[in-house]
Amino acid sequence: MAARPLLKSSRSGSILSSTGGHYLRAEILSVGTELLLGQITDTNAVFLSRDLAARGIDVMHRVTVGDNMGRAVEAFRTALGRADVVVAIGGLGPTEDDITKEAASEACGVALVNDPESESTLRAFFERRGIAFHDGNLKQALKPERGVNLKNPNGTAPGCVFDLGDRAVICLPGPPNELIPMWTDEAVPWLSARGYTPAEVLRSRTLRFVGIGESLLEPKVKDLLACRNPTVAPYAKTGEVHLRVSAKAADEKTAMDLIAGREAQIRERAGEWLYGIDDETLEIVTVRLCIARGLKIATAESCTGGLIASRITDVPGSSETFVEGLVSYANEAKTDLLGVPAGLIERHGAVSEDVALAMAEGARKRAGADIAVADTGIAGPGGGTPDKPVGLVWIAVSTAKGARAERNLFAGSRETVKLRASQSALALLRKTALEEF
Ligand code: ATP
Ligand code: MG
Repeated sequence: MAARPLLKSSRSGSILSSTGGHYLRAEILSVGTELLLGQITDTNAVFLSRDLAARGIDVMHRVTVGDNMGRAVEAFRTALGRADVVVAIGGLGPTEDDITKEAASEACGVALVNDPESESTLRAFFERRGIAFHDGNLKQALKPERGVNLKNPNGTAPGCVFDLGDRAVICLPGPPNELIPMWTDEAVPWLSARGYTPAEVLRSRTLRFVGIGESLLEPKVKDLLACRNPTVAPYAKTGEVHLRVSAKAADEKTAMDLIAGREAQIRERAGEWLYGIDDETLEIVTVRLCIARGLKIATAESCTGGLIASRITDVPGSSETFVEGLVSYANEAKTDLLGVPAGLIERHGAVSEDVALAMAEGARKRAGADIAVADTGIAGPGGGTPDKPVGLVWIAVSTAKGARAERNLFAGSRETVKLRASQSALALLRKTALEEF
């Protein structure tokens, strides 16, 4: 039968974009009682959400339904009433509870017919593995009367597309190693060939900030948070804040240009705290910087117990810059390994500015490094006093030009305090490398 053109959708609400194309609305329908019981996590839906967004297709709803024929049919009907593309996940296997294709068939009013090609592929798959073929497997070879089956080189169950002209239902298998390639290699090309080419692409760029909390960063960009295209969205992480800038445009270049414009505005207002982009972690940026400037670095850690050194050595190539990391936990270790005078610890306490400074200096001299960072603090939950509460961490940095220390009061669990302290130490290391070398 002749396919109806996409733009003549009988349903209301289809909108033409400024570029003259079509806003495609997708719905993801995950089928599986395991999902409802919380036994497995719906990573497939997360993958599809991200992939569809990147292709400029708006995901308007994500629905999960159990392996129940009546409820699955109802879910498909609802989805077809509000989406152009319905992507169903799972339930394509040979067993009784695999009902997705049958439910889609009923909701679409499109019959399932035998597909000789899928059948011979299926039989060959069983033969190659030396497994007996049961007639029960034949149901996997069924194909929508209007539509196509999608090849599954990584498993038995083929996927399929119900082609309704102005709408489509795509059924994909549950195992992620089957779903992902089938989506990318079979379903997306089908959608493109069939004219479901979205008018727009969505691109994002994450700007990463350290040394400024969300409550201080947000007011600086408040007006930008209200803008439409590109949008700016803040995300508070432990010890850092991210701003994700996203743009929709007819093509990638235009989207990236829009993002660059917004990024320039943000840099103007908060550039001094911006340390990295997208997947660039603080340790990656810091290690790269120290390598580029030919610096040797060392660490002396107390309350972080080696976390700073661990994060530095997570970065490939860190041996070019990282010389030595000590965990000097006991007072004696601070004295024996780093030369912190015992009297200093007695006078000021192990958690003090003076001891942090002496630790950093000791570490730098010991390692013959250009920069050393050190920390000493109270990670909690016990050990706090009114004077020195839980979360108090002194972080010091030392170079040949001198040493300085920062007082921090971190909130959160022991783990969080350690993480925040390592974050501040790396930030101080980076800042010093930038300013002094
Ligand atoms: P099979 O032919 O293997 O039975 P299927 O298409 O019938 O595949 P399901 O039976 O629904 O798919 O799920 C098979 C397996 O795939 C699940 O046990 C689970 O490991 C994985 N899986 C299913 N759905 C999802 C999902 N939404 N996200 C991640 N993994 C999933
Ligand atoms: Mg199954």
